[in-house]
Amino acid sequence: MKKREIHTKDLGTFVSLDMVYNKVRIFQSRHNETEFGCVGSGKCCKVGLKIHMTEAAYIAFRMRQEYYLIMEDRGEASATEWMNGKIDQLLSGMYDDSWDWDEQTVDGHCSFWDDGCTIYGYRPLVCRAYGTLTEVDDFCPRKRNEHNTIEHFAGEGVERVVQEFQLLLKKYGEDNGSNIEYDAVVYMPLGVLSFILDETELEELYQQTSDKMWEGFEGWFNYQSRFTRLHGLHEDFIMQEAKLRGAVDEDGNILERTNNE
Ligand code: SF4
Repeated sequence: MKKREIHTKDLGTFVSLDMVYNKVRIFQSRHNETEFGCVGSGKCCKVGLKIHMTEAAYIAFRMRQEYYLIMEDRGEASATEWMNGKIDQLLSGMYDDSWDWDEQTVDGHCSFWDDGCTIYGYRPLVCRAYGTLTEVDDFCPRKRNEHNTIEHFAGEGVERVVQEFQLLLKKYGEDNGSNIEYDAVVYMPLGVLSFILDETELEELYQQTSDKMWEGFEGWFNYQSRFTRLHGLHEDFIMQEAKLRGAVDEDGNILERTNNE
């Protein structure tokens, strides 16, 4: 399998992505000032996320930055130890057979969980949106209102941010050739590792792990999460984009899962 690369042209997308995160940081901080704020239970992190390659690339990029910062601060051995620890966590996610595409929850935790999120500053948007731009699941222990639900942000401002995010996934995909290699929705550990491991290591991993970990949905329009469905681009636009890519079957269904090896 080919190792994925971060290209100079991706850097502008990463900056724009962080600006989207900033806008959601504002929502999140305001939401946490309400009685429905996050209580930090980590229960929503018992999950194996599906993310678009844009966010996988950004996480890998930020991990590399962190590696050099640790090197500068504490030396190369510490930086290598830190990076190897992160890679080991991602690898264990690849061997976690409790994960599957339809039900993202896992027996353990997300690969980036270690008594808290270890990539908090650059975690994906789905983590930021949970409970701030969406409802929460029954397992979330935060406070509910009299309708046994929570109040979250919605409306034009939220739609603008979520749609901006979706259009960034589209841009990243197009900048990188609009194909399964870079424009795909994948299991997060695979997406991040594909920017970090070399080809031999990826090949070994492929031989040793379940096929389901290597599948992916081609096309940014296949990034469908609770928050994009609630606030994202209109269904007609999504369908039109999928059609342009020839990704709609005769029954009008978009989703086509393919092997991402
Ligand atoms: S990336 Fe961080 S916040 Fe998101 S599920 Fe994983 S540990 Fe939790």
